[in-house]
Amino acid sequence: MTDCIFCKIINQEIPSYKVYEDDKVYAFLDITQVTEGHTLLVPKEHVTDIFEYEPTLAGEVFARVPIVARALEKAFPEMQGLNIINNNKELAYQSVFHSHIHLIPRYAKTDDFS
Ligand code: ADP
Repeated sequence: MTDCIFCKIINQEIPSYKVYEDDKVYAFLDITQVTEGHTLLVPKEHVTDIFEYEPTLAGEVFARVPIVARALEKAFPEMQGLNIINNNKELAYQSVFHSHIHLIPRYAKTDDFS
């Protein structure tokens, strides 16, 4: 989709800090870090929200969550917990309409719980 900010990130038209990439997904640091390492995992194919996923792709994308979680665990050894969040549609606080999964590390000492 031409006017989608996450499609532009995937296509490297706008910069991002890559956490993980393969043929199906791209994961990058959220520009607003709720905690250090806050990451977004997105399908490379434009999918608006959970209701628009083709089931096979949904399985492929959600199967990558543990891969990205382990990458974060390795990069941030002080991480002691992880929130996984997926907002769908405006009423549920989705603000970017390219489906994405938030991975938000939690730290015992610095966690802000926002
Ligand atoms: P919310 O804004 O309520 O978290 P979403 O679940 O749709 O809604 O999350 C969209 C996320 O995309 C936000 O956390 C926002 O900080 C992030 N974001 C927006 N633009 C960029 C960008 N250029 N690079 C990285 N993250 C971005």
